[in-house]
Amino acid sequence: MLVKLWLNAYIKIIELFLLKRMFTVILSEGVKNMSQANPISPAPLEALIFDVDGTLADTEMSHLKAFNEAFKSCDLDWHWSVDEYRELLEVSGGKERIRHFWQQQNPDVQSLSGGALEDTINRIHELKTAAYEQRVRDGYVEFRPGMLDLIEEASQAGLQMAIATTTSPANIAALMRKQLGTDWRLRFRLIEDGSTAPHKKPNPQVYLQTLAGLGLPVANCIAFEDSENGLKAARASGLKTIVTPNAFTEHQKFVGALCVLPNLAHIHLADIRALHSGETPHAV
Ligand SMILES: [Mg+2]
Repeated sequence: MLVKLWLNAYIKIIELFLLKRMFTVILSEGVKNMSQANPISPAPLEALIFDVDGTLADTEMSHLKAFNEAFKSCDLDWHWSVDEYRELLEVSGGKERIRHFWQQQNPDVQSLSGGALEDTINRIHELKTAAYEQRVRDGYVEFRPGMLDLIEEASQAGLQMAIATTTSPANIAALMRKQLGTDWRLRFRLIEDGSTAPHKKPNPQVYLQTLAGLGLPVANCIAFEDSENGLKAARASGLKTIVTPNAFTEHQKFVGALCVLPNLAHIHLADIRALHSGETPHAV
């Protein structure tokens, strides 16, 4: 009798084990079929958002020369070397950079009264902007490799394009007119710059305003940057970001970049789409 009871209990345990196993197999097959029938599709790429200085064009050497010309015009004995300027680029914004350098040279500079400090910085910056525009007009500044082709390809594919920079409108217009022609504005759905977004990168203001203006989900856009500060601003607004460093930013850290490329030569829109969707494109 005892043996019979023990045998029945044993058979029940085996049955329960087999039933559980069968249920697990059916469940996992079901989940597998579901995921095959309804794969999670990546967000489509609808907009490219470009930084200007150092990203669209190698502008920094011309900016440096323009700063030095402005210092000379103002009878200042300042002259920034390439190494000094590389460090100064950690400070975003031309006026902010002048103020930072001035305060380093003379910590008492804040005691200048009656707005004299601001007036002087504005004057230097005005002269610097004029010198920079002249350099652009003279053809010293060109788009980086691959940028013109990418803009053309994106334009033909009907993608939105926007500019998100904290440089001045005058600097942008001078460069764009020379590179894309007088109707350059028609290429871009939106331009956010130093006049509309006064908080410099790494503050994400310029990117947040760009995204709001585009009216697209952040997942459907991609940003192009060349610097750590720019990358931080783009990432803080949730954008996937491709970084193309240059001689002035190559020593920086690009944590969180979607990828870091030397430039966009031979990179096509299909490659950008593949990167955006998480695949590795052939050209990278
Ligand atoms: Mg930049």
